[in-house]
Amino acid sequence: MDRFDLVKESFEKKSVPAEIPAGKTSEYFGELVFDRKKMCKYLDAGSLHALLDCIEGGHALDRKTADGVARGMKEWAMEHGVTHVTHWFQPLTEGTAEKHDSLIDYDGKGGVIETFDGKMLAQQEPDASSFPSGGIRATFEARGYTAWDPTSPVFILDDTLCIPTVFISYTGEALDYKTPLKKALKAVSDAAVPICKFFDPGVTKVFSYLGWEQEYFLVDESLYSARTDLMITGRTLFGHNSSKNQQLDDHYFGSIPPRVAAFMRDLEVAGHRLGIPLKTRHNEVAPNQFELAPIYGETNLANDQNQIVMNLMGRIARKHGFVVLLHEKPFDGVNGSGKHNNWSLGTDKGAQLLAPGKDAKGNLQFITFFVNVLAAVQKHNGLLKASIASATNAHRLGANEAPPAIVSAFLGRTMTEVLHKLLEVPSDTPIEIAGKKSKSVGLVEIPEVFVDNTDRNRTSPFAFTGNRFEFRAVGSCANCAGAMTTLNAAVAEQLIAFKADVDAELAKGKKTNVAIMDALKPIIKSVLGTVCFDGNGYTEEWKREAERRGLDVETNVPKMFCEFTKPAAVEMFTKTGVYTEKELQARNDVKWETYIKKVQIESRVMVRMALNHIIPAALEYKSKLLKEVALAKEVYGNLDNCGTELVLLENISRHVDEVRARAEAMREARKAANLIGNDYERALAYHEIAESFPALRRPIDKLEEVVDNKMWPLPKYRELLFIN
Ligand code: ADP
Ligand code: MG
Repeated sequence: MDRFDLVKESFEKKSVPAEIPAGKTSEYFGELVFDRKKMCKYLDAGSLHALLDCIEGGHALDRKTADGVARGMKEWAMEHGVTHVTHWFQPLTEGTAEKHDSLIDYDGKGGVIETFDGKMLAQQEPDASSFPSGGIRATFEARGYTAWDPTSPVFILDDTLCIPTVFISYTGEALDYKTPLKKALKAVSDAAVPICKFFDPGVTKVFSYLGWEQEYFLVDESLYSARTDLMITGRTLFGHNSSKNQQLDDHYFGSIPPRVAAFMRDLEVAGHRLGIPLKTRHNEVAPNQFELAPIYGETNLANDQNQIVMNLMGRIARKHGFVVLLHEKPFDGVNGSGKHNNWSLGTDKGAQLLAPGKDAKGNLQFITFFVNVLAAVQKHNGLLKASIASATNAHRLGANEAPPAIVSAFLGRTMTEVLHKLLEVPSDTPIEIAGKKSKSVGLVEIPEVFVDNTDRNRTSPFAFTGNRFEFRAVGSCANCAGAMTTLNAAVAEQLIAFKADVDAELAKGKKTNVAIMDALKPIIKSVLGTVCFDGNGYTEEWKREAERRGLDVETNVPKMFCEFTKPAAVEMFTKTGVYTEKELQARNDVKWETYIKKVQIESRVMVRMALNHIIPAALEYKSKLLKEVALAKEVYGNLDNCGTELVLLENISRHVDEVRARAEAMREARKAANLIGNDYERALAYHEIAESFPALRRPIDKLEEVVDNKMWPLPKYRELLFIN
């Protein structure tokens, strides 16, 4: 099949109807999750209470409880036709890991029976020695184990019971994303509770909430399969811009094409059956780009759900003849994809800590957390950027689309004014919601409705949006835990320091609200002039201004990772108990290695495609032109009528020469880079190689413009982006 057949086939594909279960969503929501309702139904009273105790207290299951829980879980699983079980974990790769075991065992009478006990539920030792560990596990002692995280409910995927687990080495180091995230969530709760107690002594726990918005592209699978670069790297390494892409903004929030709508519906149903509260779906800015978002939830669970959804998307897309692209920048010249992480904190008494309260006390609590979050982001802005940095997200960072490669915070006019006002008034001035009281002099007011919330500054990587911050720099294929661990840990560290400041003010005999405000004022002064920035984050002036303010302006991804082992980060992560220094170093080794491999693979694909796909196509056209010229010479005896052919021939030869020269140079650069022993130095060398991609791409995209359309082997942007 040539390209035209593929295009025709893709264009003619009919939408496959979504399979929607009978009944209302609320009736099948969560049916494949062993949630509290199932626990009550399938567990005996002893096991139920012991399990709830573990969930609430955050401690591990003892064997007896595990056996009891496993018994009930097995009964439920069998009712759903489950035949296999797996520990489901999040190693330091993209995506999740599973190793399925069937439930059968010998029954001692020559047959088999289904078994599932507490041991299988609570802890396993998947060899799993090939996952990246940054040298924590040399293969000769490749023992790592997985242990159930009872705060993440067990779920069923197809015929398999999936048990969400942490993945740890036998020496205790975390080998996954979940373990440090859970530690950071505990740290932020432990640090926030004492501060909440100033306002409500009954608070015993603080929850971190995450609402992710997942952007993605869909491409037709027939066209996808004809593009080696998409198949191997998840993005197009070449491709001339389509004449029309997103200029007209006609895709954004447009009506959803039927084939895509059917895909989305199937995805929603699958998510809802797994208890994932998928809520929003819409077309994004770029053609064939879409977004989905659930209702926010507790961060650890919300992150598990994001991992599940990314997995479901891939499978369900195939049913509809699509491939889902989660890469941050699959196409040049149109927007890339991110994953906004909407983040907030709330107490077990129902208070939202990043939203204005009901009264002056509630508002002071809000301001306290709001300002401390800004302080944490200020102190660790470079580290937060490092937490979202990757070889793939590098294409968005600093590339004139959210996010710029500088982490600053957008407050909006209202909150900026409130902070300025707080600096002017005496520390015991009540902070009121506007309109609730008659105006009095010096009052600090927060409007009930945040006028500025609609004033969404799309250029800000960390924006306040009324009751939460939106960390917009997270990559679309990233595990949110990377960003969420760093953010929650940084906030925890700041809250610990703040509590000490308040205590020092209280020791001077001040009233609580005055002590808090006096501790806040120097922080407010500091953040307003540095991390807070409401202007356009894409401008050159901002880059200069940010540097002057002392914000991190590094754009080199391998260098960004160094933030993790700088003293400020090591101190923060060790003080909060999130990472040991050894883990931080190991993780950086993994990051550099992953970066190298990603760029290496892309570079190989690029060079091979240049030599095997592009140059031959160009030469084929060249040969056709040469034949025409030779024929003209024969017929007319001169080349007077061959002006166009000669110009084209010259162009093609020049571009082909450039492609070959650049491809060879890139191959040489790789050879040289591979000889570098040190991971970091090698990553820096690969960064240079990544920087040279556009130079090889340019002549190829030029060739696409001149070579006969019929001879071009690769599906073009206008085909990939507009068929759905
Ligand atoms: P937008 O595109 O305007 O940012 P969306 O509705 O697409 O809005 O996504 C907003 C996300 O933020 C949703 O997942 C929503 O549940 C989540 N969210 C709302 N309030 C909070 C909050 N207090 N904490 C965390 N996430 C929140
Ligand atoms: Mg948003």
